[in-house]
Amino acid sequence: MAEAKDVLTGLDRYEEFLEKLEREIAKMDGYRIAVIYSDIKYFKYVNDTYGYQRGDMLLKEFVHQVTEDNPAMLCAARVYSDNIVMATRMDDDCDNSAFRDFISEINLEIERTLRDNYLDEQLRICTGISIIAQGDRVLDAATAVSNANLARKVAKEMEDDCCVLFDYRMMESIKKEVEITSYLQTAIQKGEFQVYYQPKMGTDHLKIIGAEALIRWKKPDGKFVFPDEFIPVVERSGQIVELDYFVYREVFKFIDERLRENKAIVPISVNVSRIHLNKMGILDYVRSLFEEFQIPPGLVEFELTESIYTDDTQKALELVNGLHKLGVKVSMDDFGSGYSSLNLLSGLPIDTIKLDKVFLRAEDLKESDRIIISCVIDMAKKLKITSLCEGVETLEQSDYLSEIGCEIQQGYYFSRPIPQEEFKEFMDSHYQGEEKVLTV
Ligand code: C2E
Ligand code: CA
Ligand code: CA
Repeated sequence: MAEAKDVLTGLDRYEEFLEKLEREIAKMDGYRIAVIYSDIKYFKYVNDTYGYQRGDMLLKEFVHQVTEDNPAMLCAARVYSDNIVMATRMDDDCDNSAFRDFISEINLEIERTLRDNYLDEQLRICTGISIIAQGDRVLDAATAVSNANLARKVAKEMEDDCCVLFDYRMMESIKKEVEITSYLQTAIQKGEFQVYYQPKMGTDHLKIIGAEALIRWKKPDGKFVFPDEFIPVVERSGQIVELDYFVYREVFKFIDERLRENKAIVPISVNVSRIHLNKMGILDYVRSLFEEFQIPPGLVEFELTESIYTDDTQKALELVNGLHKLGVKVSMDDFGSGYSSLNLLSGLPIDTIKLDKVFLRAEDLKESDRIIISCVIDMAKKLKITSLCEGVETLEQSDYLSEIGCEIQQGYYFSRPIPQEEFKEFMDSHYQGEEKVLTV
């Protein structure tokens, strides 16, 4: 019976490939086998922009380039879409990282050819490699492919050299990621996520004039998982959208409660992940929250990180305009942590800039940091943008910020992010006998 082949590429079907690789592993003697799993980054972009026919041509050429004149190749298959896996013979005396470099070089060459023919600057080949040696832990085909695929996923995150050798340590980090993403929904339902609030102080009187909502994950054993650990993971899985919505809802609910109870409240800012730019459902969601809670728009603010603006300035602009239409303020978070900040300031209608805490990192403020901070604050003032410095930890820093006219300060010096109940006390103690709602 004729072997089943993939119609488009003429390669083996994946099941066939696994059987062949299994047989190759069984007879391996005096050499090793490298399983090379590749795909094309931005392949979807080619399909979407130039059509499927062009995508198919690109894929055929890619396969041709990868497999032609390759005497060491044992078998190759298309797993699905643009995912191609192949197994090649590898000499025992060939060094693993030298082999990786070799594949990386070949990838670069193929990329050049494909770019020339397909006019796409962004085309990238991402490759994961897993090496099977005799007597190795991996001696079955499916595990070797799955390891190479894992390495490919790591490669896809790389900016430059998208070719990665599998390493057992990858299993640990992936396991952790899977644990977080598969448990997230349950964690939300079980109330393990809580919103903490960190006060913002007006520089002129050093009284609370706002707060930032920051998410906290408290595991059933009482241990906290901090945002820096889980936010990047849930951003990769896309679940950050749901988690951010959870935070927004909690914040709206809290403000609404305080207003109903006629208690003191301040404008509260929430964070916006870069992932929202892909879907933009955020505007509808925020609109629905305003319909549900009927709170004044001046009481919520949205913090977009500087990197959102640099990722896709056009989309970011749409988002800022959309949020402004809803009546809320928008701030640029982590200002100064990346680049292009200065250009962006003139092009984007933002209300506040939050200077990143890196400026204040030194115990004593360095002269160069002082100059940069005061220039940025001057510039913001001229552009009629409110300035806020985060990460204020000492009296000296706070005094300096007052001196140079920074309008708002936020940091451990005033308060760490605190749970809602504690934050209520913080506000109450600041507001006895004063106006109930203060805005900047
Ligand atoms: P961020 O938005 O820049 O938030 C400020 C971070 O600085 C917070 O860390 C805060 O606890 C910390 N911080 C505040 N004052 C000081 C200080 O004086 N010194 C120092 N060293 N740090 C200070 P946190 O809460 O661990 O959050 C880390 C990051 O995680 C946030 O950075 C934000 O990017 C992200 N994040 C937190 N909550 C959310 C959320 O609900 N949604 C999204 N999308 N991201 C969130
Ligand atoms: Ca923030
Ligand atoms: Ca920040």
